[in-house]
Parts: sequence; structure tokens; C-alpha cells
Amino acid sequence: MRAVFMTGYGRPLEVREAEVPRPGAGEVLVRIEMTGACYRDILTVEGFFPKARPPLILGHEIAGRIAELGEGVEGFTKGERVVSLTYTYCGQCRNCRSGRENICRNRLWYGEDMDGSYAEYIRVKAGSLVKVPEAVPPEGAAIAACVTGMLIHAFQRVARLSENETVLVTGAGGGVGIHAVQIAKALGARVIALTSSPGKVEQITKAGADEVLVLGDKTLEEIKRITGGEGIDLVLESVGQPTFSVSLRALAWGGRIVNVGNVSASSVEIPLGLVILRENMVSGSISSTKQDVEQALEMTARGLVRPIATVLPLEKAQEAHELMKRRESVGRMLFKP
Ligand SMILES: [Zn+2]
Repeated sequence: MRAVFMTGYGRPLEVREAEVPRPGAGEVLVRIEMTGACYRDILTVEGFFPKARPPLILGHEIAGRIAELGEGVEGFTKGERVVSLTYTYCGQCRNCRSGRENICRNRLWYGEDMDGSYAEYIRVKAGSLVKVPEAVPPEGAAIAACVTGMLIHAFQRVARLSENETVLVTGAGGGVGIHAVQIAKALGARVIALTSSPGKVEQITKAGADEVLVLGDKTLEEIKRITGGEGIDLVLESVGQPTFSVSLRALAWGGRIVNVGNVSASSVEIPLGLVILRENMVSGSISSTKQDVEQALEMTARGLVRPIATVLPLEKAQEAHELMKRRESVGRMLFKP
């Protein structure tokens, strides 16, 4: 099979021939229908996850059809459409037992701790699979675990978003941001979108944002004006360090910020006095649980989420990473092997 390998930290990706993996007990072989490029993959290549040892097939956004069942796998059939979580979990630890498998203490990540999905086939644990309704397009399946399910997790499970709250989405033109706009709207919020790229404003508006702002010196004043002086109830921070300071200062009294990405992998300063006086909350959120992915697929099947993506062949993986680093891509970059 063809697969895209990280051959060394900081090195360009390489398309190579590789053996089709054999599913072991409790595993299935999935023929990839579509897979996504995540900013985390770029950080992996840059060497921020030292457990990811080259040569390694990248990718943790897994959507396809079951090609082969390993020993003892029940409840799935050959040819069935599935999405996998971005990781495997143990099912035994304290977090797994309380339905928080996304923070399993024995979590292993596809495309980092083991080979990933930038390939024609991948071997996955049956326990990490969710069935895909036929009404969901391949693009919607490919983004269900790491984008839409992840956003449902961040908005509902972590940040407890309520209807009529004002949400600020940073990086609103990116693969996470543009779907965050859609999901926050579907959950009944008023959405202000923030982007650093004036060229992406039109598409973000089409995605349903109530207001779209281009990041600049006046951003905080504009947010104050739009919110009648109140500020933001919930920031979905998909960029991280470059926009964090604006996000924090834009918060309302009692407002909160949920961090789902950090493109520069560097630290931020938090003025504690401000956070205390306004009773703000700063939290993180990682990936999705099976329940989140099921909800994401259901919302996609109902048309509440419309995947915005560019679909490329595997051979363009390096090019896709370059576009993402230069912030030139709108929506998710997906590969169809
Ligand atoms: Zn991802």
C-alpha cells in the first residue's frame, strides 16, 4: 500500500510503499476512505512529541470501511463504514471508567505512538470505532473525531455552553475554526469569528458567523462594542499563544476560555488578578469520546454541520502541511488515498 511517512524530525514527508498491516486480536483493518491533516501532525514532524519515532506513518483522523476483522471482534462486519477515535484507550483506568476515555492514562495516539492513517489501510482497535450513518459524506466522517466531535466535547462537556451565550472563535478560517462557527451556531450561541486573514472573511460569514473580525489593534474595542460592553462568554481558542492574550482580555465577567490548539507550542502569560477579579476560567480540552463522535456524526447527517474541506491525494501531504503553516488553507485539508 502507499503511505506517507515522517522519515525524520524536520524532514519533508515521503510517500513510500509499505506492507498492508494484519489485524491482531480485537483489531480491524480499515481501508481509508478519507483522512485529515491536523496541525498536531505538523508539530509531530517538528519533533514536539518525542514518543513519535520516525519512520512513522502520520495521521490520526481515520474514516473508512472495514476490510478485515481480527480475532474476537464482535459487532462489526466487513464493508461497514466506521470512524475511529484518534487514540486507543484501556477501558480500565479511573478516567475510562468515568466515561472520559479521551484522557485515558494509557492512551496511545495514532500517527504518534503507532502508525497512522496517511495510508491506504490502517490497523485499529475495534474498541475505538464508531459506526457512520450513510447520510454522512466522507468529508464529514473524516472530521468527526478530531474536528467536529472534538468541538462538541470542548463546547458541551468541558465548557458547558448554553444557548444565547456569546462565543468567540479564534482561527475561524482554519479547519477547526470554521467548523467551530457552525457547531456553536447549531448549539444556539451568538458567534463572533476572529481571523488573521482578510481573504477568509467571506467563507467564515457563509459558515454562519454573526460577526467576523480581522485581527488587529482594534480587535478588543470591536468586541466590546459588538457585545454592548459585556465581553465574551466563551472563547474557543484554536490558535493558542498568538491570540491568547486578546482572547483572555475579551472575556466577560464570569467568561471562560477553552483551549483546543496551540500552533506555536509555546507558553502564555496569565494575569491572575484579572482572572480572579472577573472570575474567569481557563481550561483545555482534548479530542473526543465515542459519545461526542456519535453526536458529531448525527449532527452532520442532519445537515447541521457542513464539512468545509479541500480533498487532495496522499502525494500532496507535504504541500498541505506547507499551506497550513502559511495559514493559506480554508477549512480542513483532507487526503483521499
Ligand atoms: Zn487531528
